[in-house]
Amino acid sequence: MSQTPHLQTLHPLDRYTTLKIGGKARYFCEIFSLHDYLEVLNFSQKVNLPLFILGRGSNTLFVDEVFEAIVVVNKIQHLHWDLPEVICGAGYNISLLAVKASRQGYSGLEGASGIPASVGGAIYMNAGSGLWETQSSLLWVKTINHRGEVSFKNKADISFSYRHSSFQENGDFIIEAAFKLNPSDGAWNLQQSIIKKRIATQPYKQPSAGCFFKNPEGLSAGALIDKAGLKGLEHRGAAVSTIHANFLINHSNATATDLLELSQIVQQEVLEKTGVKLEQEVRLVGNFLYEKI
Ligand SMILES: Cc1cc2nc3c(=O)[nH]c(=O)nc-3n(C[C@H](O)[C@H](O)[C@H](O)COP(=O)(O)OP(=O)(O)OC[C@H]3O[C@@H](n4cnc5c(N)ncnc54)[C@H](O)[C@@H]3O)c2cc1C
Repeated sequence: MSQTPHLQTLHPLDRYTTLKIGGKARYFCEIFSLHDYLEVLNFSQKVNLPLFILGRGSNTLFVDEVFEAIVVVNKIQHLHWDLPEVICGAGYNISLLAVKASRQGYSGLEGASGIPASVGGAIYMNAGSGLWETQSSLLWVKTINHRGEVSFKNKADISFSYRHSSFQENGDFIIEAAFKLNPSDGAWNLQQSIIKKRIATQPYKQPSAGCFFKNPEGLSAGALIDKAGLKGLEHRGAAVSTIHANFLINHSNATATDLLELSQIVQQEVLEKTGVKLEQEVRLVGNFLYEKI
């Protein structure tokens, strides 16, 4: 259902991220349709402020400040099955999509089970686990650019690599996506086993943004952090998870600064003890992104 976006000012952002951290947005709203998006785009041009799209906030760390932007939570969540294909709004929960597909005996999205992402955020990050990546079963996406021009892009028109898509450079908003699935008797069992493994090996009950660092080629960031003896390390309100060393958690009202300082300590210690420089996977978001040089 389409509603006119209700803009709020100085709105707290912590509740919209899985880390439960963040300052305030100068303007904030949720959108439910392309029409809503166009209205907010128009507003952003009027007030001359950038528009920042948020999915389910599971890979975002907002810094502790007033973010001089319009933060827009994407709730475009329609779903249309035309098996073996499925078309969905980019605000749809990709883990739920994986469950629904495998329950109907269709394979291709099981790897997304338990990733608390929106479809758009998963495409933007090319989220993945093991050998599976979001792009694996993607067919096409519908996008809109900052001039309000809508276009369809086939998978071949988008570049993807490990935790990267060309959307990270072009800034287009992903509105809708289509995936191609395959009939499979084993889809449901595979989906269930992936979920069980995640619950057993990841700190699902504590606020985090999943893996904080990318895996260096051929290596595991978690294993390196563990090897450096940092599992359980606490820094103010932030800590290295005792369950999975690549999860930095907000264990008691951490600020973005607490988490960033902890991540720098981890990077430094891992570099000294293993010679490997870890690269951040989580997206740090704040005014610095839009500062003119
Ligand atoms: C418990 C847990 C487990 C996780 N496990 C995994 C895992 O196994 N594999 C993995 O890869 N990641 C994992 N993650 C990280 C996270 O879920 C992914 O990076 C995911 O892709 C982020 O999606 P999101 O919708 O939450 O994005 P957000 O955090 O909301 O946004 C991330 C970036 O995407 C952009 N964006 C979001 N939606 C759109 C859109 N529609 N159009 C254009 N840009 C958009 C935002 O502007 C932002 O820059 C995990 C996180 C948690 C908390």
